[in-house]
Amino acid sequence: MAGTSLGGQVETDVAIVGGGIAGLYAAWRLAGAGGRRIKLFEASGRLGGRIHTLYPAPGLTVELGAQSIRDDHHLLIRLLQDLGIAMRAEQKDDGAGLVHLRGRTRSHAEIGKARLRRPFAYDVTVSLQRGGPGRLLRKAQRKATDFEGLAGELGPRLSQLLSPQEMAYLADRSGYGFWTSPVNADAVLGWAEQSLFKGSHQMFDVPSGMSCVTDALAAAAHDKGVDIATDCPLLDLAIDAGGAITLGFGGRRPPVRAGSVILALPKVAIAGLGGFNRLDTVRALLAAVDAWPVVTSAILYPDCWWTHAGFRTAIAVTDLPLGMVRHFGAEDRPQHRGIGALAMFADGERGAFWRGRSLPDGAWLASDDPAMAEIRRMVETVYRPKLRRAPPLPLKAMIRDWAAAPFGGAFHLWAAGSKPDEAAALALRPVAGAPIHVCGEAWSPRQAWIEGALETAESVLHRYFRLPGLLDGIP
Ligand SMILES: Cc1cc2nc3c(=O)[nH]c(=O)nc-3n(C[C@H](O)[C@H](O)[C@H](O)COP(=O)(O)OP(=O)(O)OC[C@H]3O[C@@H](n4cnc5c(N)ncnc54)[C@H](O)[C@@H]3O)c2cc1C
Repeated sequence: MAGTSLGGQVETDVAIVGGGIAGLYAAWRLAGAGGRRIKLFEASGRLGGRIHTLYPAPGLTVELGAQSIRDDHHLLIRLLQDLGIAMRAEQKDDGAGLVHLRGRTRSHAEIGKARLRRPFAYDVTVSLQRGGPGRLLRKAQRKATDFEGLAGELGPRLSQLLSPQEMAYLADRSGYGFWTSPVNADAVLGWAEQSLFKGSHQMFDVPSGMSCVTDALAAAAHDKGVDIATDCPLLDLAIDAGGAITLGFGGRRPPVRAGSVILALPKVAIAGLGGFNRLDTVRALLAAVDAWPVVTSAILYPDCWWTHAGFRTAIAVTDLPLGMVRHFGAEDRPQHRGIGALAMFADGERGAFWRGRSLPDGAWLASDDPAMAEIRRMVETVYRPKLRRAPPLPLKAMIRDWAAAPFGGAFHLWAAGSKPDEAAALALRPVAGAPIHVCGEAWSPRQAWIEGALETAESVLHRYFRLPGLLDGIP
């Protein structure tokens, strides 16, 4: 089923570009329908894109990219079933979770009990501090009805509705810094309400690591005849007068002529495609989304010392550059004494602190690296008040900057002035009459989620390749 070579040019029916979950999923589904020659091209040497599990020690998985699955992520849950991959309900020990802001560490339980004194040194009422980001946003929404709604740019709009101290608390406590940015206020607030504060959902993770999902998809697609090529960056895409599409790659690869093309790529990757990026509709598409910068890291320790502070899976949030911290290694084993890991998620300004402190190609920072001293200092500051003794020295750490090429950010948000519905529809076929389709998380109504990436791929497959939906017939 591999493409044929004609005079130095390779031919294929469908070329899929991008080996993240959207591209792999499209390849697997299309190959399952049979009858087409399909080639998938991935720029890097690793498949999975923004799904990236580390396996630093036997039985230990650490997610540098996507981790959580929500109970309403129907496509992803069905996909896991089809691939035979088990999910695990995320344990809720929220009361034990820590918040460290302006020099003070409090557990969620302590914040919940605060009645008279403010938990943290912000000029924000006790009630709003206890209620957290969700309550602050509800306050903004109530006030917005007296003004012009929540249209316009998010940062400037929210700043009219909340005080500077409330804005600072919102960003620091939520662990996200985009509240002050000039993205599309309406769209991003709707998204935040759905994605961040809809509290009653059950969350799951994949104990064998999220990368198992993309690895299994790649293997299944390959078994069905998809030709997968890594280290194959698409550089340009041309449509000739007769409508034929030619893809040009780096690394002296021969050009590929394709009957149709699925670009399962984030914004920065589409922006880099010579020829294609100059088309007016593609420029409109690019203007509709902003990539949001995030730095993540895995910090390895000789044991899961955080269990001594009474928590295993709870999250810690701080205004220090550590941002949000997850804990890996003690999930299924209360008595677990082996190696453990903290995973940091630092966005916006918090993430900027780490830029330039990472090593290329995912290399580990050794224990004597200057960045390790910073990590150690911050971890001690956040956790020490809840521990009898200081945390052990970290063994090593890996820092990953998702703002770097070819991702541009960890996730995307609708840009100011964009019309999300129109842009999401345009992505499915940005060039009138040409069988080129753009999909992936960036162009989805469910940005920042794997489910969004899958939904856009489903839309392309259903509308333009006539495949029945994966969930068709499922009640
Ligand atoms: C830190 C972090 C935490 C996250 N947490 C969650 C979570 O808990 N739950 C959740 O559901 N989602 C989460 N997400 C989001 C989720 O990871 C993404 O929505 C999803 O993986 C995006 O998939 P995609 O296929 O659209 O894009 P990508 O994964 O970005 O795939 C695009 C692929 O295209 C390749 N590429 C780029 N340029 C070219 C080119 N020119 N030629 C060929 N190939 C190219 C890239 O190398 C990449 O492999 C998180 C993401 C990050 C980074």
